[in-house]
Amino acid sequence: MRATLMYGAGDVRVEDVPDSAIEQPTDALVRVTASCVCGSDLWPYASMKPEDGPARMGHEFIGIVEDTGSEVTTVKRGDLVVAPFAISDNTCEFCREGLHTSCAHPQAGFWDGEPEEGGQAEAVRVPLADGTLVKLPVAADSALVPSLLTLSDVLGTGYHAAVAGGVDERTRVTVIGDGAVGLLAVLSAKRLGAEQIILMGRHEARTDLGRAFGATDVVSARGEEGVEAVRELTGGHGTHAVLEAVGHMSAYEQALGVVRPGGVISRVGVPQYEEAPIGFGSLFRHNIRLAGGPAPARAYIEELMPDILDGVIEPGKVFDATTDLDGVPAGYQAMADRKSLKVLIKP
Ligand SMILES: [Zn+2]
Repeated sequence: MRATLMYGAGDVRVEDVPDSAIEQPTDALVRVTASCVCGSDLWPYASMKPEDGPARMGHEFIGIVEDTGSEVTTVKRGDLVVAPFAISDNTCEFCREGLHTSCAHPQAGFWDGEPEEGGQAEAVRVPLADGTLVKLPVAADSALVPSLLTLSDVLGTGYHAAVAGGVDERTRVTVIGDGAVGLLAVLSAKRLGAEQIILMGRHEARTDLGRAFGATDVVSARGEEGVEAVRELTGGHGTHAVLEAVGHMSAYEQALGVVRPGGVISRVGVPQYEEAPIGFGSLFRHNIRLAGGPAPARAYIEELMPDILDGVIEPGKVFDATTDLDGVPAGYQAMADRKSLKVLIKP
């Protein structure tokens, strides 16, 4: 079968690999019908060293169950399923608390090399299939597939940013980042009733989609100027919640600049830094809290899927390009060049 491998920065190839197959009684074999390239795939695409490769890519996919191990009970051959970007058993004490990304099962984890599988491929062996996979009540060619695919990561991650940020009806929110996660953090803040949603982003086609998703204001300036603009929009005080969907230190500093006393900085952009200010001059002085982390996308699927099925939300609008597997390397480059927001893959 064919799969996407990253050999190093800027070097993505689609190659023949051994066919995925059931190995454990808790596995399912899924034939991929839709997957995509993630903004987080762009970090290794920018910086991966050749000695760390090749790595199988893709952690967001929908597909048809082709085979199941003897212990799998919740999905069966022929089911259309979505896989979140973390493998989990959905039964341990962390999963029961809705923190599937901290699942205690030894086979739990991310699609990051263990197992050697990935969603940007023709098929995937899914460990802990009962916990990880969720059946979808539509056909593989449904027009809802792009929106349902966002349940695997970007919608759940944007929603997690808003939930961890404590967003509700009395909240003013700043979203930093106009990538797919930032835009779906806007949609999520709107869904949770936020009173004001300020989107910080510079790419007009994206910020227009952000307005369609519920942003009340757009600030294109960055740094000090951007912070000033948000403060002007909020009576000088900043916002209760800041949803940081980038991961650069400059985005963290921007978050510090626009968060209101007593507020929360909720980070879902994978931080590209290990150290950041948290002391008297940054978080402590005004009781500012730091929240966020890898989103337990699995925890939100049952809550968010009905809104997609009912057409209340259309998160699939973040896809602005579609390709087959052959076009995946070009898809990475288009996203790295910010020519595409998010590329849908139909293997
Ligand atoms: Zn678990």
